[in-house]
Amino acid sequence: MKYKIMPQVLPDIAANLAGIRTGIDSAVQKRPQAIPTVQPILVAVSKTKPLSLIKQAYDAGQRHFGENYLKELVVKSNSPDMAELCPDVKWHYIGTFQKKMASVLMRVSNLHMLETLNGAKEADAVNSRWKSTEPLQVLVQVNTSGEESKSGVTTSECIELVRHIHKNCSNLKLSGLMTIGSFGYDCTQGPNPDFTMLSECRKTVCKELGIEEKDLQLSMGMSHDYTHAIEMGSTMVRVGTAIFGARDYNKTEEQ
Ligand SMILES: *Cc1c(COP(=O)(O)O)cnc(C)c1O
Repeated sequence: MKYKIMPQVLPDIAANLAGIRTGIDSAVQKRPQAIPTVQPILVAVSKTKPLSLIKQAYDAGQRHFGENYLKELVVKSNSPDMAELCPDVKWHYIGTFQKKMASVLMRVSNLHMLETLNGAKEADAVNSRWKSTEPLQVLVQVNTSGEESKSGVTTSECIELVRHIHKNCSNLKLSGLMTIGSFGYDCTQGPNPDFTMLSECRKTVCKELGIEEKDLQLSMGMSHDYTHAIEMGSTMVRVGTAIFGARDYNKTEEQ
């Protein structure tokens, strides 16, 4: 049997991270004054990428990592190498979440945040299983683009869900809102409407709960638009390709 040898270009992860951090800082400077001054968190999206590359990012100071395949996250986060080489890693689960996945989610080591909470039943399922002294940080995923292929609640359902979490889920801490948005939006056309909608949704939620906008994260922006998102008030960007290079989906299926 013959194997095709693929030419492999290894990404310079430390250099990529440095470039993105510079991009983040200059985008923060460009924010209009009305936007709360919150330093964005960079979540390095490592789906399909091996531990060796995660370790390179970790050694370059990266701590927040995101995965969107739950099984992959369970395996990676529990690997003995991970515990030894990246003890302080903070995992974000950013994939589609369903109620039946709650018990698997509990098997993730160093789970820092569930970014994709999308309903009251899902919230209850996680709330009843989370057994830690600290509440689990959650973001409510809002389907701002209204596309059927995307998970998440509508902006009006968002208010209900937020109320539900506050009232009934003492093991969860509502840390903010998240959106993926429609793919391929051209930022030269002006502010991305998905990002505008998420910011508006935060305003409503903050009024409802009587909290300040700076106390709720906005997770929006990926490799191609993270600077644009930060200029619009994003406090959490999820960047994969720009750090780790293109993904090879031959082994893993997309969402
Ligand atoms: C894969 C993924 C990202 C990262 O996308 P890139 O374009 O590689 O930066 C961000 N958010 C979610 C939910 C993802 O699934």
